[in-house]
Amino acid sequence: MITCYTGWSRGADTEWRFQCQSRGINVVICTKSSADKQTIEEGKEKIRKANQTLKRNVEKYLNFLALNWLQIKNSKLVIAIAPLIEPGKTGKKVWVNRCKYAMADGGTAYALQMAIDEQIPIYIFDTVTSKWKNFSKEKNNWQDSTFPPSIKENFAGIGASDLTENGKLAIEDVCNLSFPKKKWNLPIEPGPIYCHICTEDKKAKTDQDGLLWCSYCETYLGVVAIGDNGVHIQLNQ
Ligand SMILES: [Zn+2]
Repeated sequence: MITCYTGWSRGADTEWRFQCQSRGINVVICTKSSADKQTIEEGKEKIRKANQTLKRNVEKYLNFLALNWLQIKNSKLVIAIAPLIEPGKTGKKVWVNRCKYAMADGGTAYALQMAIDEQIPIYIFDTVTSKWKNFSKEKNNWQDSTFPPSIKENFAGIGASDLTENGKLAIEDVCNLSFPKKKWNLPIEPGPIYCHICTEDKKAKTDQDGLLWCSYCETYLGVVAIGDNGVHIQLNQ
């Protein structure tokens, strides 16, 4: 079973979560509570190492940035959706790109540089040019990729918190290619599910997209997906 590691932010993280969950792909949201102390310490070292290339001011944000390591650590592939900032240029988030190659704006840069340091394959959808690129170890630079990445193993799905429309479509494209939605043959009746609005176990119903609704007050409760291990339910929290 494939797992998508992502963050807790709005934008790309949320879209990865939605697209994967609605296809029955396991999603792990990497937060402070999902990390043990040792992994956080390991993460701090990896951030310091990444910062030898990024050359930003990290010490103040080290605990926070270290959580990015949780996304990279168990991934065989990293897919980022973000604007690429050329060397020497300043991104929207005020950081100057001091690398020799183009780099993502904002915090995504740390995850990407850690993946480069660990030699994990990386793809980025550059939302500025609407192009897929992958990082070439030999060239130590990005190169255009004819095709979007194909996901066969555990991966990190990450990117900008202010996700653009083309970025959102790129996530959907990648998920459509690797995890096509299975057809709904039968109406799925998940039975009574706790509804936080009715505050009772009410009968839930699914629609054609596999979204799960309270049949009493129509509140959106989560998604039902058909994955490799059959039908499973992810409740909205
Ligand atoms: Zn309800």
